Amino acid sequence: MARRPFIAGNWKMHKTAPEAAKTAEQLAALVADAADVDVMIAPTFTALEAVRKGIEGSPVALGAQNLFWETEGAYTGEISPPMLVAAGCKYVIIGHSERREYFGETDETVNKRIRAALDHNLIPILCVGESESQREAEKTFSVLDKQIKNGLQGFSLDDLKDLVIAYEPVWAIGTGKTATKEQAQEVHAYIRSLIGDMYAKSLADSLRIQYGGSVKPGNIKELMDMDDVDGALVGGASLEAETFSKIVRFNK
Ligand code: PEP
Repeated sequence: MARRPFIAGNWKMHKTAPEAAKTAEQLAALVADAADVDVMIAPTFTALEAVRKGIEGSPVALGAQNLFWETEGAYTGEISPPMLVAAGCKYVIIGHSERREYFGETDETVNKRIRAALDHNLIPILCVGESESQREAEKTFSVLDKQIKNGLQGFSLDDLKDLVIAYEPVWAIGTGKTATKEQAQEVHAYIRSLIGDMYAKSLADSLRIQYGGSVKPGNIKELMDMDDVDGALVGGASLEAETFSKIVRFNK
């Protein structure tokens, strides 16, 4: 089944609002005619508005890097789903390994965030992936099993029709070590069959699975050539418009 490629940039804790606006405008111009691929950037919360303006009228969509599951209330420092919707977000990254490692994110909180995103028509990008020691101990599939089954507990087939999963081996994030195309394909195929077992072949067939971990202009094409790799979640190489645009235009 042909799935529309989806290239997303995660700017993490980089760029002030004026810096983000500048990069967003450059990117919007560079990918203005990218009609065959979905593109998203997720800046910091303080730069959402500036980036929204910078990408207006372009194929680039806006995403957030996280959300809190309550709609409003006494939750100092948190951002709610309606706030992201009002800021123009279409997507939200959930369960990034940096949030799991540094900010106490668990499969249970991931589950609540996905529920909240779906309740407000935000498309969740669920991040999963094993650490280096887990891979060495041959626990990759069992780790992914747990992250996906617990993260998606309680959702119906219909809930998940737009879900995106990003496979991001922790050992490949920001390290310059990319999974080989064969390693990525093996895990993506596993995730697709798991979703087929948990839900239905129709969802498995339409599910977009991004690869993340040191994706660059030089390795995107070979990754995208793999049957079950439908896109990329890009950190470092998304920070510069020219570089990221080359990843977005991997097919040119
Ligand atoms: C990420 O943080 O999602 C990521 C994949 O980072 P990088 O591309 O820098 O490895």
